[in-house]
Formats: sequence, structure tokens, C-alpha cells
Amino acid sequence: MKVIKIGGGCLKDGQAANAIIELIAKRGKGDIFVLSAFYGVTDILISGIATALESEANIPLTINDLRTRHNHIIKVLIREDTQKKQLSKGLGDVYKKLERYYYGINFTREATPRMQDMIATFGERISAVILSKALAARGVDASYVLPEELGMVSDGKFTDASADMDKTRKNLESWMADNYNSQSVLFIPGFYGVSENGDITTFGRGGSDYSAAVVAAASGAEVLEIWKDTQGFMTADPDNISHCKLIPELTYEEAAELAYTGAGILHPRTVEPVRKAGINIAIKNTFHPDARGSLITQTGITTPNIVKSVSYTTDVAVLKIHASGVGARYGILSQITESLAKAGINIKSVVTSQTCISLLLSRKDIEKGYASIEKIEPSPYRKASVITDVALVSIVGEGLHLHRGIAAKCFTAVSNANVNIEMISFGTSNAALYFLVQERSLDRTIHALHSIFFDD
Ligand code: ASP
Ligand code: MG
Repeated sequence: MKVIKIGGGCLKDGQAANAIIELIAKRGKGDIFVLSAFYGVTDILISGIATALESEANIPLTINDLRTRHNHIIKVLIREDTQKKQLSKGLGDVYKKLERYYYGINFTREATPRMQDMIATFGERISAVILSKALAARGVDASYVLPEELGMVSDGKFTDASADMDKTRKNLESWMADNYNSQSVLFIPGFYGVSENGDITTFGRGGSDYSAAVVAAASGAEVLEIWKDTQGFMTADPDNISHCKLIPELTYEEAAELAYTGAGILHPRTVEPVRKAGINIAIKNTFHPDARGSLITQTGITTPNIVKSVSYTTDVAVLKIHASGVGARYGILSQITESLAKAGINIKSVVTSQTCISLLLSRKDIEKGYASIEKIEPSPYRKASVITDVALVSIVGEGLHLHRGIAAKCFTAVSNANVNIEMISFGTSNAALYFLVQERSLDRTIHALHSIFFDD
């Protein structure tokens, strides 16, 4: 049995969804499909929260937008009139429920994290209904089960939950023992789980990859396939380097590093659950379902130049904290990280020297981060500053720290491209080397690196 995740990018419109339905009808019997929402739907659901707070009059607009989008898709997927009507009617209740949540927010003038997470899951709830009905309409036995019915247990952390693997495994095993049918197709909405208190909690944006990994690990799947509208992991972002190549095989570590720097292929935490269970991840392109794609395994394969990909993210900013003797005094870093944690800010990385601590934060958090450490009394540092016009570049390849000359090759190439390196972080991972450059030098940097490592 496989667990297969279908991304929103494969569900862009009716035509795309139709192709997916055909693929599932042909090959998906006995497999479990973890779904994303249809393309763009989660964004509408979330921005609907803000507009519902602004004015009641916006609520019907949001609902109509969602209804119209889904109806367009249904029209392509289901031809028969009564079936189509039945489905639209069934979804009517779902929209009504959603509408009530939005009115609740408008009425109470408050969007609690609980409510935000609940609302955000409606895209997946709806796509699961539509896809299972569309298959059934073709005579394929298909059904769906919600994470709260399955017992996909989360730690209850709104907008950024993790699964409790032991409890989820137990619940899934007993659900499967009673309900699994090797002749039918099963859908599970991705993106969320339910806490022991019964709270619906999402796994963060893009979290249905993680959901699928949890289901794969908990059910002992033979493989986790991620179905996408792209080939797989590439040696660079095709938007920067049009001649970049597919990476056929990666290690878990390499995939996790690439997911982290924003290759956009996988949710960064997807690797965690499957790595422990020893399950491989196969990235598959739904336009070429028989192509190899990228395979992620424990051992991967090593290529002659070790480096597999050049990656970057611009969602980064530096919070610099200047103090004398930071390397010799205890407590400064903990005061700072505690204050950031209290403000709900994630720290991506820390680099310290004797006179300065540099914290890498997401760009959206930087102002809030700066404000939160300014409030520490008495102030443990001399001066703080913020740098935003930077990009985090990484070269990724398992074992690059063990091979002489890779860092030298990398930094020589960057320097020859006339790019100044702002900050280096090396040795924290066996599979990646990170450094910061000014954002305006980013393109030059990526080209220089790709050419030195991949253009023979
Ligand atoms: N639909 C959710 C999102 O857009 C989860 C996912 O697609 O993975 O973030
Ligand atoms: Mg996604």
C-alpha cells in the first residue's frame, strides 16, 4: 500500500483535477491519498478571516468565490446531472457552516487561533468530498475519512502543530483493521490533525506533505509518493537557472535541507516521520507519471562533486546584537531567545562571535523581533540592529563537510563573481553549507555556484 500526497498545484482547475482523477482510477486502488485544497483555496479562506473582521458584507463574497471555484471544477469532473446536484447540495451545508464561522468572527470582533485553524481546513475538507465523489461517479469505489475521525492526534499547537506519532499510529492501525479495503481508494484531507482536547490544528502552510508523511509512517506504507506538477528536486531553481537538472536521488538529510531553504518542493518537516520509519519518499510528476522523479532514501547516492543543489531563500533577515564579551558571558543568548519565543518568533539560525550575536529570522518577524528584545530590562546588550536586504544561499550535498576543497571552491566562485559574503554558517549540518549575501548579488551568486558545480 502506498500513501500518495496530491498537491494543490496538481489541482489547479477542472482539467488538472480530471487528469488526476484518471490517474487515480488507473493506479490508485488500495492506496491512501492525502489531499491538499484546490489551488488558491486556502489563501481565500485565510484572507476571508481578515475581510470578515472588516465588514459583514464581505462574508458572502468570500463564500461565493469559494463556491464558484469549486463549482467550475465539479462541472468538469462530474457530467451526470443528478450526481452533480447531489454533490453541490451536500457542499451547501459545508459552506453554511463556514459562513457561520465567519459571522462569528465578525460578531465577536476576534479571530482566535482556534477559529483561524478551523477555517483554514475547509479547503481540504471540500477537496476530499469532491474527489471521492468524482471517482465514485466513474464507478470506482472511493471514500474519504477526516483526520478527526481517524484519530490523527496533534500536540494542539495552533497553526504549527506536530503529530503525536504513537497515538496516531495506534488509532490508524485500529481504523485500518476495521475499514481498509484493498479494492477501493481512500482519501484523507491533509493539513491538519486534532488535539486530545478535540481542537482542529493545522500543521502550518503547505502542511499536507507532513500529513501524508505522518499517515505513511503510521500505516507502514511501502512508499510515500508526493504527486506534483513539477519534476522533482532540481540542481537549482529553474526560474534562475533554466538549464538546471533533475536530482534523481537524495538522502533524507539533503531533502530536509533543500526543503528548508525553500526549494518549494516539500514542507520542511515532511522528512521527520518517514525517516524514523525508514520509508522512502518519491517525488512524482503527474504530467509524466512513469518518469523517475526524485527518490529520497536513507543512503541516497553520492555524485562525484558531492554537491547536489544550489538553493536559496529571501525570506530571511538578520537581527544583530552587539555586546562586548558575548562569547564569555552567560545568559545573554538565553534572555534573547526567550524573549523571541515569547513573541512567537521562530529563530532560523544563530551565529555568534565575541562581540556580536546574529540571529536569522523570517523577514516578516524581524520588526516584531527587534521590538521584543528592546523590551528586555535591564538590557543585556549594547546595541541591536536589523539587516533585511539579504538572501540565504546554501549548497547542499551529504558529506560535504568531509570533503576537502568544497567550501574553497564555493567561496572562490562567489568571490570571482564579485560578491561579498555577509555571514557564514558551516558545520551545523552534514549536508549543507549556508551563507548570506546581499539580495542584489543573489542572482550572480546562484549563477556562479551552479556553473562551478554543475556546468562541466
Ligand atoms: N492547503 C494548505 C496550504 O495551502 C496545505 C497544503 O496545501 O499543503 O497551505
Ligand atoms: Mg503544498
